[in-house]
Amino acid sequence: MAEYSAFALLKNALTGNQDWKPAWRKPEPKPAYDVIIIGGGGHGLSTAYYLAKEFGITNVAVLEKGYLGSGNVGRNTTAVRSNYLLPENVRFYEHSMKLWENLSHELNYNVMFSQRGCLNLAHTPGQLDDYARRGNAMRHEGVDAELMTPAQIAKLVPGLDVSASARFPIIGGLMQRRAGTARHDAVAWGYARGADRRGVDILENCEVTGFIKDGDRVVGVNTTRGEIRAGKVAVAVAGHTGHVMRMAGIDTMPIESHVLQAFVSESLKPFLHTVLTFGMGHFYASQSDKGGLVYGGDLDGYNSYAQRGNLPIVEEVMSEMLALFPSLARVRVLRSWGGVCDMSMDGSPIITTGPLPGMYLNCGWCYGGFKATPASGWCFAHTIARDEPHEFNAPFTLDRFQRGTIIDDKGQGSTPRLH
Ligand SMILES: Cc1cc2nc3c(=O)[nH]c(=O)nc-3n(C[C@H](O)[C@H](O)[C@H](O)COP(=O)(O)OP(=O)(O)OC[C@H]3O[C@@H](n4cnc5c(N)ncnc54)[C@H](O)[C@@H]3O)c2cc1C
Repeated sequence: MAEYSAFALLKNALTGNQDWKPAWRKPEPKPAYDVIIIGGGGHGLSTAYYLAKEFGITNVAVLEKGYLGSGNVGRNTTAVRSNYLLPENVRFYEHSMKLWENLSHELNYNVMFSQRGCLNLAHTPGQLDDYARRGNAMRHEGVDAELMTPAQIAKLVPGLDVSASARFPIIGGLMQRRAGTARHDAVAWGYARGADRRGVDILENCEVTGFIKDGDRVVGVNTTRGEIRAGKVAVAVAGHTGHVMRMAGIDTMPIESHVLQAFVSESLKPFLHTVLTFGMGHFYASQSDKGGLVYGGDLDGYNSYAQRGNLPIVEEVMSEMLALFPSLARVRVLRSWGGVCDMSMDGSPIITTGPLPGMYLNCGWCYGGFKATPASGWCFAHTIARDEPHEFNAPFTLDRFQRGTIIDDKGQGSTPRLH
């Protein structure tokens, strides 16, 4: 199994890099496992890792229909933060942040977690009041938050138009300094390697095509690589939740699938030293270590399973970027792509037992589930192993929509594309 010590790096550098081994095995499916996890994205892989590590449950398979990391875990813009308003979200995402802070060590895999901060720009006094309220709610839960003045912002982000004549004048901002970015592929690969070395089978090109039931109880799945039985079947398929749950006979999920696009520019000298969000629209950006701007904006606004988006959003995102940074007008876009997001009715996730006996469900990550990857897997593993939620995910039930105990951080109401 590949080990990434300084010694191994040096040895391989001197011997032509001939000695690296695959980071995870390519096993054949077994007829049965204790636990099957459908979906080899960040959440499925981290669940498998924590099931093995925290609960000693190693007879586990992760079933991925494509190649590992082909979903949103490898398509996101890598922002990690815990700057929420509602206590349920602050506690859950702060738990994730704490796991992020030790993740490279824990996995012995450099996930390039960079705590460069996340700054939300405010453009009106009302918005600044709102940010102060959110910052206070975070501090109340022991999470770092601070309000910044325009002068402090100008120093932190040279190139930002902070003049009074700017199209959208900046009057302050909410900063979380412990927020930042991580290398998304490395997160998938690190969890995969960590799970594999504890005995988990990662089965790529293994699409689940149906569920095997004994009465109401789910006892296994049909796949493109044959039938596989399991004591417990966990679903963590993000944007494909509705499709997969329908195979199990659950027709109505409080989830809509929407496309979100991302963009990368050509490399520029370092000038953006934090994750930045625009307050008068939907635009956010960070700068990668290679110098490219990594940025995006709103959903395309229609339901879709396509991993690509449409031109109106491209135009909107570019125009918002130029409202903030007029000097970027001639920078070229190198790449763009889309991912299918599982938008929930209240913008918060679902991590729960059920809804059928033998089944466990993890979904509703909207466009913010990358930062949740460690805590989601940690809590989902707890839920699967103990058949009850951990206190961090106890509020994130499926039936909260029936009971009216929604967790609507943005206060947008039940319109998934607005969360
Ligand atoms: C453009 C974009 C930018 C984003 N930016 C951010 C960000 O900056 N910060 C942040 O926190 N979040 C962000 N997100 C959201 C984040 O990426 C997702 O919420 C998160 O990755 C979803 O969890 P996952 O990694 O498990 O999903 P995925 O990686 O999509 O994993 C689900 C897997 O299930 C597999 N699957 C589906 N159906 C089946 C089947 N029938 N059988 C077997 N396997 C199946 C899929 O192939 C896929 O690999 C962004 C998303 C997008 C699209």
